[in-house]
Amino acid sequence: MTRIAYVDGYFQPHAGACVHIEDRGFQFGDAIYEVWSIRGGKLLDEDGHFSRLERSLGELQIANPKTQIAYKLIIRELMRRNRITDGLVYLQISRGVAPRDHTFPKGYLRPTIVMTAKSVNAGKIQSKALEGVAVICVPDQRWGRCDIKTVNLLPNVLAKQAASEAGAYEAWQIDQDGYVTEGSSSNAWIITPEGVLVTRHADHAILRGITRGKILECAQALGYAFEERRFSLEEAKNAREAFMTSASSFATPIVKIDEQTVANGAPGSMVIALREAYLEQD
Ligand code: PLP
Repeated sequence: MTRIAYVDGYFQPHAGACVHIEDRGFQFGDAIYEVWSIRGGKLLDEDGHFSRLERSLGELQIANPKTQIAYKLIIRELMRRNRITDGLVYLQISRGVAPRDHTFPKGYLRPTIVMTAKSVNAGKIQSKALEGVAVICVPDQRWGRCDIKTVNLLPNVLAKQAASEAGAYEAWQIDQDGYVTEGSSSNAWIITPEGVLVTRHADHAILRGITRGKILECAQALGYAFEERRFSLEEAKNAREAFMTSASSFATPIVKIDEQTVANGAPGSMVIALREAYLEQD
């Protein structure tokens, strides 16, 4: 089966799909992106990801080139052509192609749209999650607007690479005051010894994860107390449970932070309940 991508109006073989060398996404990172998880042929948190897409475009003053209905049709077609039941869909939108100049080009510029999709092994992801994963900590080296989902991911790439080299699954980024901001591609959570769920408040230092929002709703439904506030690495290392959330990992238990096991080193019951509640949502 040939893998198919969508680029600027055309479905085409993924292997040969490309964008122009003067695309501003390539030249300047002048682009945003969004990611949806697909489970059982269904997009998870579809509307939440579309709302964030609109917001990211708005923050960069890029006019949305398509309606939500059009994106949804393309996503459905990509899923069909790539025969995806469980997987991920990526959408990147750049400001477009123009002669290289930092300032926005004058007049109308047609944004570049790239969409790709891939299958994932849902069973493997589930068993990995139920074992729990390790994280390492790295300094947060990012810019001041991490709330915008831009394609400028170099600090995240370096953080994830450091995690991989250390045999860990994710890197938690630590701000200058010793507080955890978030993972390289996920939000960070702990459960205090008193059983209170804590995740950083959604300021400009983190991406307001769509999964994060849904997990807060699940916490409320389960009757868990929660606080949106910053927490220190010290507090995380003494937590009862720790976990990460993202569209691709849902809620995944963290059992080790640097060299320290979290509690007894096994996934905690609250995160497992939250993961189940998340996956049972409509
Ligand atoms: N934080 C960062 C830096 C991310 O890249 C991501 C996901 O890609 C998240 C948090 C989680 O966001 P979401 O739950 O919307 O996938």
